[in-house]
Amino acid sequence: MYKCPGCDSEINLDDVNVSADIALCRACGQTNSFAEMSEESQVADFKDLQMPKGFRVEPDFGDGKSLVYKKMSPIALFLIPFTAVWGGFSMWGIYGTQIMKGEFNLTMSLFGLPFLFGTILLSSICLFSLFGKRLITMGNGRGTIFSGVGPIGWKRRFLYQKSTKVSVEYSAVRQNNRPVKIIYIRGGSKELKFGWGLKNEALEYIAAFIKNEANKN
Ligand SMILES: [Zn+2]
Repeated sequence: MYKCPGCDSEINLDDVNVSADIALCRACGQTNSFAEMSEESQVADFKDLQMPKGFRVEPDFGDGKSLVYKKMSPIALFLIPFTAVWGGFSMWGIYGTQIMKGEFNLTMSLFGLPFLFGTILLSSICLFSLFGKRLITMGNGRGTIFSGVGPIGWKRRFLYQKSTKVSVEYSAVRQNNRPVKIIYIRGGSKELKFGWGLKNEALEYIAAFIKNEANKN
């Protein structure tokens, strides 16, 4: 089913010309790009969706609403033992032995820096895979997307209105030679992309939430 981006009425397939990329809305008379409409139609109605595991909707300040997603990532099962062994051995071998002997070895310490950074990075990914959360907060035309652990993480802001387009599309990023789907928020001149590493079901749910909140604006 295709909906007119202008007035939200249903568009009959008889009024669609795919090769000319035109879809005429009988309700308001607007002609739309069929390609753009098809992208739009990927996002389901929020109320029609069942909340997948790990999600929670919370009221926020005033009229705002937050969608929280917290779920242990299966990579933790592999990554935590790996980090413990790899990080443990390299940190012990390079720095632990120096501390034990009470002798500082500059060459060895410098040599160990990449291992130190690697261990810190891997540990952060482990923490995120275990306790990480994604938080989408929307209210009064302003939204934030946060991903991180506790208060530490990455926060991005966006503005939205009724005409803001939300979609789940393939990104330029590939994993195992297959393109990865992410969420796109397009409004005005800005484009926000997020959701790398999330399963399709989670992406669809988040996109539907954002679309639903934006429509209330
Ligand atoms: Zn219309």
